[in-house]
Amino acid sequence: MLAVCAGLAVGLNGPPARATGLRAGVARIDITPSQPVMLAGYASRKDLSRGVHDPLSARAVAFEQDGQRLVLVSIDNLGFYNRTAEPLRTAILEASGLKPAELFLSAIHTHSAPTLTLDAEKGHSNNVAYTRALQAKLVEAVRKALDQLAPVEISAGSGSSPVGVNRREVVQDDAGKPKIVLGRNPSSPTDREVQVLKLARPPEAELVAVLFAYATHSTSLGPKNYLVSGDIHGLAEQFLERYLGSAVVAPGFAGASGDIDPWVRVLPEFRTDKGWIPEPILMGTMLGEEVARVIEGMKGSTTNGPIKTLFKTVELPCKPGAAASAPAEATRPLNLSLGRVGEVAFVGLGGEVFNGIGQAIKTASPFRSTFIFTHCNGAAGYVPTRASYAEGGYEVQSSPFAPGAGEQLIEAALQGLRDLQWTVSNPQTE
Ligand SMILES: [Zn+2]
Repeated sequence: MLAVCAGLAVGLNGPPARATGLRAGVARIDITPSQPVMLAGYASRKDLSRGVHDPLSARAVAFEQDGQRLVLVSIDNLGFYNRTAEPLRTAILEASGLKPAELFLSAIHTHSAPTLTLDAEKGHSNNVAYTRALQAKLVEAVRKALDQLAPVEISAGSGSSPVGVNRREVVQDDAGKPKIVLGRNPSSPTDREVQVLKLARPPEAELVAVLFAYATHSTSLGPKNYLVSGDIHGLAEQFLERYLGSAVVAPGFAGASGDIDPWVRVLPEFRTDKGWIPEPILMGTMLGEEVARVIEGMKGSTTNGPIKTLFKTVELPCKPGAAASAPAEATRPLNLSLGRVGEVAFVGLGGEVFNGIGQAIKTASPFRSTFIFTHCNGAAGYVPTRASYAEGGYEVQSSPFAPGAGEQLIEAALQGLRDLQWTVSNPQTE
């Protein structure tokens, strides 16, 4: 209603003012390490990287309308472990003047990118240097995206991809009882939606960015790999930018993939002979092709502003001994970021949530499209569903959270989405 009134006022009083419409700017910056680094994500990998399979990038999409901003950043990395979310975010916020709720800093969860750390005591010096340089590059990427704000039209769409599969395989233990191992469980109902957002510049509908979110671990390369790579999400981003032209920025985001792995993992060697397509390339290309198929089928723009954002630190029940500070406390925090651009909502979860949690948020969201980003603005650990605790398995064992945390997170996200809807006429909320 407000948007209609504002548009009418402009129409009556003079030429349409572009400043009242939705604007966006995009940027891409190379973050491939220039020296050997420790790669993140597998405890068994003890040596430095031995080369680069494919380059890493940071990609930013900045939205602005009526002074409200929302900046979505995707980096080709595992995530913000070793307490790196806060310093990286602070550097960006201070340099850009963004409010904390306006920044979604997310990682695609590739396990073939540098471990982030600013801890010179514990981290490898090359990784500390890498993280410091990354900090400056992220500041630059966000500044560049904000500098290029110009009118934009956005459309949301949806596809499906078989690249990810539930990894909680049921086997029998020595006593013949069922147990969960990391494997493949295709019979588990899984949300395989490929969420796609297209940004085009009027009046010619020139494509400027394609953003996508998909739920799988980017781990097709496995723990024996020592080459830097964006893995599935990174290769999908690279495929899209090659296919659509290098002026288009294609940031990828990991959906709710705590219990989702790639359908196939790489064979011991990268094989290219006898028609073999290496697994990361096969699956990254499949995912990228689905994104391209979705945008090519989209018709016209669907939504405009307003932009609203919310940032909450949710205290979730944790296991005994896993409290964040005093042992008497029974909770741990998880950063929850919420944003909307018109009828499109974004939910950023600062942890590694199970597929069912993302599905529950999307299904009950009051918005037409609700994108789920994990590894966003924090790294609180695995958040399983309540039902999975009874089954056990790696994620449940390594999660700091107690049963019920996932369901509380769903409620907090849905409440936040309802607040964003309501705040159309209440610009106080930030
Ligand atoms: Zn993971």
